[in-house]
Amino acid sequence: MQQGRIVSTSPQYPGDVVASLAAATPDQVNAAFKTARLVGQSWSRMPSPERAGALQRAAQGVADAASELAELITREVGKPISEARGEVVRAERILHYYAQLAYESDGETYPSAGAGHLLFSRRRPHGVAGLITPWNFPVAIPVWKAAPALAVGNSVVLKPAPEASSTGLRLGEILQESLPAGVVHVLVGGAQVGVAVVDGADVVSFTGSSVVGREVQVRCADRGVSAQCEMGGLNAAIVMPDADTVAAARMIANAIAGYAGQKCTATRRVVVVGSPDAFAEALRNEVERLPLGDPADPGTVVGPVITERARQRISDAVAATVASGGELMTRGDLPTGAGWFVRPALVIGAPDDAVLNQEEVFGPVCTVTSAATLSDAIDLANAVPYGLVGSVHTQSLSAAIEVAERLETGLVRVNEGTTGVDFHAPFGGMKASSFGPREQGKAALDFFSKTVTVTISPG
Ligand code: NAD
Repeated sequence: MQQGRIVSTSPQYPGDVVASLAAATPDQVNAAFKTARLVGQSWSRMPSPERAGALQRAAQGVADAASELAELITREVGKPISEARGEVVRAERILHYYAQLAYESDGETYPSAGAGHLLFSRRRPHGVAGLITPWNFPVAIPVWKAAPALAVGNSVVLKPAPEASSTGLRLGEILQESLPAGVVHVLVGGAQVGVAVVDGADVVSFTGSSVVGREVQVRCADRGVSAQCEMGGLNAAIVMPDADTVAAARMIANAIAGYAGQKCTATRRVVVVGSPDAFAEALRNEVERLPLGDPADPGTVVGPVITERARQRISDAVAATVASGGELMTRGDLPTGAGWFVRPALVIGAPDDAVLNQEEVFGPVCTVTSAATLSDAIDLANAVPYGLVGSVHTQSLSAAIEVAERLETGLVRVNEGTTGVDFHAPFGGMKASSFGPREQGKAALDFFSKTVTVTISPG
């Protein structure tokens, strides 16, 4: 990618240039922050019903453009159309949800320490929220950051991932049509523009890789600005001997390879308690049955990966894991035809320090290992730098409780795949997966505001 020029191409038809745009210049970044800060003052003072109304209009705007947005997501980042449609519906619901939360109590009262005193706390927005987002959920992630930021009265400067520039700009237009001019800005660009947004913002919400997230944390700490960073995962699914094999294998196969494994919550490691062979075979069958192909086909589950470089990294990581002692259970060939398609890969018996067991490889790849006891399986699941989500598949309540208590992850799912997020509940991970307060749900309102404690005496 040329410095200063952002080109996004379709992963399934790499000759299809979806966007070719000039990256935002430093002057444009400064102008966006200047306007956002100025206009943000009246936006923050606007009565809640008006802010709620604007978010409702934005929800309607997303609903009206649903087909167009879903098709654009599919074209630009190769997400299977059925999932892309689901993502757009989710974005609409998130906007409705935070429109209602604009009416949420914005503080608390306290018993006063002095006669006749009134003591209360109240939220205030930070000012301009800088939002940096990845390409894999190019509508839902910007919306789940922007909606709570706006609901509590911040203005927003969003920098979408370069690979999803066109989708980010189109989403920005929809939000801009519903909100007062100058409250929402979308700046196209790569790392340099990302740095400028981090450096200009009063509060920063980032989602992306752990390497970049760490850099964002340091820059924000240096300026004393609140930051939340949601980053990678190396998520484990633990399968107990009493699990419903067919149901668990189907669920886990989808969590491994749906959207070609390009979700931070995708299952990357399966740990079978007891002998792994029967479950591994059931899983292999399910993974190989997943329809792979053109993401515009509603039946497709596994589309392409985002770039040629990503495809190379995936096949290198599988080869390195096999070289270190794992056995490839699935077909290892590359699908023919245009596009960055890669066949889902399961590797069984790889050592704990194999690449796929220690590094987040963003593709439809997963290891299968075994553990003698549930306790050993939990230790294995925890033995990585990440801690986003984990699942356990079992009929045993005590096993479910033990996993929920001991897994070092921000999300624990019982008899559910690791993928899937409830936007009205707190979301985030532990260890290298997450930094700062949770996002989504009501937790997001706290992050995007600061509390002022007021004492009023009768005078
Ligand atoms: P990335 O880290 O490469 O980029 C994320 C964003 O940061 C992009 O907009 C990018 O342009 C910007 N950026 C790059 N360098 C920057 C810098 N120095 N300063 C500021 N911004 C900078 O990630 P990606 O490839 O777009 O997305 C894939 C990653 O995102 C995976 O690691 C995945 O696990 C993670 N992810 C996490 C979650 C979650 O909620 N935990 C959700 C989706 C994706």
